[in-house]
Order: sequence, then structure tokens, then C-alpha cells
Amino acid sequence: MKSAYALAMEELNSRQEKNKAEMEMRHGEVLIKVPEMAKIETALAKEGTNLLRAVLDGGRDFEKIKSEIQSLQEKKKNLLKDNGFSEDYLDDIYECSKCRDTGFVDGLRCDCHKMLINKYIAKNSNLSELMRKQTFENFDMGLFTGDEKVEKVMKKACGEALKFSNSFDEEKSSLLIMGAAGTGKTFLSSCIANRALERGKTVYYVSAFQIFDMFEKIHFEKGNTEELLQTEKYINDADLLIIDDLGTEFVTQFTAAALFNLVNSRLIEEKSTVISTNLNKDELADLYSQRIASRLTGEYKVILTLGKDLR
Ligand SMILES: [Zn+2]
Repeated sequence: MKSAYALAMEELNSRQEKNKAEMEMRHGEVLIKVPEMAKIETALAKEGTNLLRAVLDGGRDFEKIKSEIQSLQEKKKNLLKDNGFSEDYLDDIYECSKCRDTGFVDGLRCDCHKMLINKYIAKNSNLSELMRKQTFENFDMGLFTGDEKVEKVMKKACGEALKFSNSFDEEKSSLLIMGAAGTGKTFLSSCIANRALERGKTVYYVSAFQIFDMFEKIHFEKGNTEELLQTEKYINDADLLIIDDLGTEFVTQFTAAALFNLVNSRLIEEKSTVISTNLNKDELADLYSQRIASRLTGEYKVILTLGKDLR
């Protein structure tokens, strides 16, 4: 998986190429219909060179050349109009006039570039379309009303999850979301992911099944694809890694060790992780190992979910 930055640069380049091709096409079209345009363009190019020379010479004839250029441009516009083209038909085409599709203005990243990077960060996050729509703003507490205890627990869970998503990077914290199946763990994970994306953080969402399947492929198969290795790198580098539904995958000695390594190395590197699971501490210890259970319940913040079945 390519980085969001590389993908954004590629899109900027393809915009430039597309518009350049369009401009060349328009140019050819005009020259066929209006052959005298060639003369005006040659004259314009010549005066452009003269203007540059005049500037270097200290401004002699500067005004004269400038007005000559203006009159040539006027002629060009009129010629275009007279032949049924719009007067700006041969002007440069840009999708962003601020940076002229270069992505930078005075050495600083243009807003259009930032938007593209954010778009690709979100695309790279592995969140489904549906999950992209699951935000704290859309979190429907109505689903939990009617049962006072459930309501109280979920209000607290939501508040803690929101707080976490606003500060995990500064606090270097990680989160364990524990609760039975269908109590909104995935929804909460999506809310956290979307909030982190809004804040410009890189996020990778993956189910426990997917991530261990991937690790097994990388570990046991010789034909590692470039794509798989890039995704692994993206997972390792993400500001926030979210592993959903731990305990539903097929656990082997390998996956147990892989999970410990992942949890441990992210803790050491102070990178934030969210893990959701329907297992309790004892079950985590039984299924994986005591040391994983201790790491997760001891060093992660724990959020409990409770509920009526949301599915
Ligand atoms: Zn721009």
C-alpha cells in the first residue's frame, strides 16, 4: 500500500498531465480553424523574451513591450471569440488556481494537497463505507435507553472513547474495549477511527481474523507480495491501529505469539492501539497467554460496553 502522501502526489501529477493534454488538444483545434493564431502566438513568445530582457537590462522599453503584449493578447481573445471559442480557451487549465496543481504555494503545502492527503489517509484506513459514516455525532444513545444500567455504562463508554480519540497521540495511550457480541464495540471503534482521521492521524482498521491471516501469509508463504508487505508497514506505522473482535479468529501458537509481539512493540514504540474483544481477562489468558492478558488489561485503558443486542 502506497503512502497517502505518495498517492496525493500521483493524483496531482495526473491532474497536471490531463490538463496539459487538454491544452495541447485545444491548441491544435484552434490552429486548424484559425491559422493566423500561429503568428500572434509567435509574436507573443517573442515579446515575452523581450520583456524578460528588458527587466534584466534595468527596465528600458519595459512599458512599451508590456503594452505590445497587452494588445497582442487582446487580438488573441478577439480572434478566439470571432471564431466561436471562449476568449480564455487557450489559457492554462488548473484545478487549483492557488497552487496551479503543484500542491505547494511558496513552499507550503496547499489546501488542495492537504485535502488529497486526508482523502488517501482515509482510503488507506481499511474502513468500509458504512464504518466511515459511524461517528460520535451519529452514535444513537436511543439504542440503549430503557435499561438504566446499560444506558449508564454506554454513556460512560462513549465519553471515554471520545476522550481517547482526541488525545491518544499525546498521551501515548491504548484502549481495550471489552463487551459481549453486539454491544456496539465495532461502532465505537469506527467512531474513534473517524475522529482520529478528522484530526489528520493515520489509522488502520483491521479485524483480528484479517490481521492474523495476513501475518500468517507473510510468515509462512515465500511469495510475499509487495502489496502485503506495504500493508504490513502501513499497519506498523499507523498512528492508530484498531484490531476489532479479538478472540473470534482461529488462535494458534503463531497467532498468540504474533499478537504479543504486536502489542508489545507498539507499547515500546509508544504507538496507540485499540483492541476490541468479547473475551474477559481470564479468557484472554486462556486463549492467548497470561502475559498478553496482563499487558492488555494492565497497560491499556479499559472501556466496558454493555447492551441489548445491536445486531
Ligand atoms: Zn492547490
